[in-house]
Amino acid sequence: MQVDDIDRVAVLGAGSMGHGITEVVAIAGYDVVMRDIEQDLVDDGYDDIEWSLQKLAEKGLIDEDADEVLSRVETEVDLETAVDDVDLVIEAAPEQMELKKEIYGNLDDFTPEHTILASNTSSLSITEIATATDRPDQVVGMHFFNPPVKMDLVEVIYGDETSDETAEAAHDFVESIDKTPIYVRKDVNGFVVNSVLGPFGDEAAWMVSEDEATVEQADAAMVHQRGYPMGPFELADMTGIDIGYHVRKEAGRPIAPIVEEKVENENLGKKTGKGYYDYEDGEGTTYEPGDGEGFDTLRVEARMVNEAAKLIGNDVATPDAIDTGMRLGAGFPEGPCRRADKTGLDEILEKLETLYEQTEADRYRPADYLVELVNNGHTGEDAGRGFYEYDGDGGDREYRTLNVSQDDGVLAVELDRPERMNALNDDLMDEIEHVLNNADLDEVRCVTFEGAGDRAFSAGADIGGFSGMEPHEAAEVTSMFETVNEFPRPTLAKIDGFCLGGGHELALACDLRVATEDSEFGFPEISLGLLPGGGGTQRALRMIGEARAKELVFRGNRISADRAENWGLINRSVPDEEFDDVVAEFVDDLVTGPPVGLSFAKQVMNEGDDASMPAALAMESQAFGLLMGTDDMMEGASAFMEDREPEFEGK
Ligand code: NAD
Repeated sequence: MQVDDIDRVAVLGAGSMGHGITEVVAIAGYDVVMRDIEQDLVDDGYDDIEWSLQKLAEKGLIDEDADEVLSRVETEVDLETAVDDVDLVIEAAPEQMELKKEIYGNLDDFTPEHTILASNTSSLSITEIATATDRPDQVVGMHFFNPPVKMDLVEVIYGDETSDETAEAAHDFVESIDKTPIYVRKDVNGFVVNSVLGPFGDEAAWMVSEDEATVEQADAAMVHQRGYPMGPFELADMTGIDIGYHVRKEAGRPIAPIVEEKVENENLGKKTGKGYYDYEDGEGTTYEPGDGEGFDTLRVEARMVNEAAKLIGNDVATPDAIDTGMRLGAGFPEGPCRRADKTGLDEILEKLETLYEQTEADRYRPADYLVELVNNGHTGEDAGRGFYEYDGDGGDREYRTLNVSQDDGVLAVELDRPERMNALNDDLMDEIEHVLNNADLDEVRCVTFEGAGDRAFSAGADIGGFSGMEPHEAAEVTSMFETVNEFPRPTLAKIDGFCLGGGHELALACDLRVATEDSEFGFPEISLGLLPGGGGTQRALRMIGEARAKELVFRGNRISADRAENWGLINRSVPDEEFDDVVAEFVDDLVTGPPVGLSFAKQVMNEGDDASMPAALAMESQAFGLLMGTDDMMEGASAFMEDREPEFEGK
């Protein structure tokens, strides 16, 4: 059974997850039948899908009308009818083992022999669920995140008996519905994301219970110093304090006193009005950026890294799968393995060892794999190897935050942090420099930049990554923008969505900018007490003049693509459906143009902007003179005479 054999899918359950999964599967073009136990329930789920599809259609996020997608969705109450001709079942029924086993027993009887049975369970054992069937090799975990329409990640989990063929088909299916799968190769409790995320809240709760920190301090530090999307207590309030409590209780792990207390008093978070913060009489979260001072963030991060090391050492997941999982599934600013390699694994191990010596608590016991890495000198990026191998500055480096491809002279660079709206962080900037510095100028005739996902070119810089930065480090931020600006081939920013802050500066560092008309441009830095620090003030000033540049920088408001075009900030603002064609026309001219001529023109225009008129004119005529003798110039002249298209070779 391979992904190509999957045509028809059944989703069991029309609740929060079931209706969302049905929706994404239908959007991807599959016929899907959604089953729940009562007609009212499937009807409600269907209405939710309809509402959501209309929203997506309004925002231009799906290619078809909502009705066309809906025409592929059937609803059903009878289980046998729902599944008797499907190739894949995705089960999203309530989280109870006995219920799931009953369902799987029935599925085994009612579905064709080849059908794959996938469970969306968050915490139950796939192996045990599979025992209810005579086809445990065809049972697999397919763990979506809430809400499925928005969350890009799906964990594909092996039970003990799951065959590679089944797991691969599930993996490829997830890709076919435009989600990102990661393999969880063993059926461990919490799979990857929840295992690594566990200590985030747990360790913070111990620290508060032991009077070593306050709730606000922990949340402020993790958000404003370390860049997490939410603080540990804010997150617990949102998901429900009882959820984490029950997971730990069932796993027989000790529970921090403050968590016990909240659960005993039924202060379970937002859903009960009160948790760590007061949402009823108070204003919800109350931490401020400065509150994090003095919080030991490494203690929390070391425990997450330890959890990751256990998963890697036990062959449950690769560092890359873990990092992808935490970025896409939990919105982490960067993967814990990558971050640990930067911090230094020796430092992390030392933290754990110290805590373990002090407390003898099992949660600090260092993972064997972490100890092994450190003992072998693999302490992280500086040592050339940690969780990852670093191959120095060689050309064939693998990129973590970019998708890079090269075809027909076009070096296409996609910023690949859609979960953070492609915000720039130090890895991403470093990787852009690396791509450009290692580009083969004999092959590359033009570079394009774009953002992954459907929301942003790049919505800014990851602020979390910048706080705690020393002034001299901030001074280095601009080098990436300069590298882009000075790259000796034309560069084009393809902008579809938000183009803000550092992302906007990257676009301005490019030579040309084409945007969809729904895109928005701005410099929000001022609202953070900052200014655009990647060349934005100066490039905007030179491009659109003082009045408009100051309006952008001082007011921090966003402007539409049409206004940006009108102001001369971008070359074209075009309707969505014309975007690809217009970009292709630009790229075609750049790729077929004379490389040396374009490179000289770029240099003279970039530098001339800052020179006096006589100096700039001197530069221009010098470049003109140099071009006169080139093969490309001869080719251009003969092609003109012979009335044909020139073929420039860059000589
Ligand atoms: P839910 O309660 O919103 O929905 C479950 C639905 O299943 C209900 O509508 C219920 O009537 C229906 N149901 C009950 N018995 C059924 C049966 N025999 N056949 C088909 N449907 C049946 O629950 P949910 O939040 O959608 O969770 C469903 C599954 O997804 C659980 O296993 C849960 O652990 C997992 N999950 C939940 C989340 C989340 O954040 N909610 C995230 C990932 C995974």
